[in-house]
Amino acid sequence: MEEDNWLNEKIIKCTKCGNELKVCDHSPFEHSYRLYCNSCPKRVDIGTYEKVFEEIENYDELSYEQIMIELEKRLQNCECGGEFMMNSKRRCLHCAKPLNIDEEQNVWLKEMWSEFNDDKQEQKIEKEMLKFIVQPKWK
Ligand SMILES: [Zn+2]
Ligand SMILES: [Zn+2]
Repeated sequence: MEEDNWLNEKIIKCTKCGNELKVCDHSPFEHSYRLYCNSCPKRVDIGTYEKVFEEIENYDELSYEQIMIELEKRLQNCECGGEFMMNSKRRCLHCAKPLNIDEEQNVWLKEMWSEFNDDKQEQKIEKEMLKFIVQPKWK
């Protein structure tokens, strides 16, 4: 059904490792800023409740891009040494190969939001996914 897929959710296959991944658009109802590392598949998810927004001057008047630039400047580097940047390529969660998808799209494990028969399996997938979503650390 059309309305079930309003975030353009689809399954893609990594051309390097052959694993499947789920991609979908960033939900406009999800008020967070997501910046991807420029050298690994990790991303940082910044909720609007973060204190950092109080430090950004004229925050209310800035565009999305301008806010992202302010966040880039303030974020500490990723564990891998890369930087969280708004224009980073999305990467395969399995082999880190850069993927050919839009920057508005996010990458998930293929199994995310599937119908699970048992909760344990669902929790396992969520835990697995959380390895790629890191808490923001500020300079
Ligand atoms: Zn891959
Ligand atoms: Zn990284």
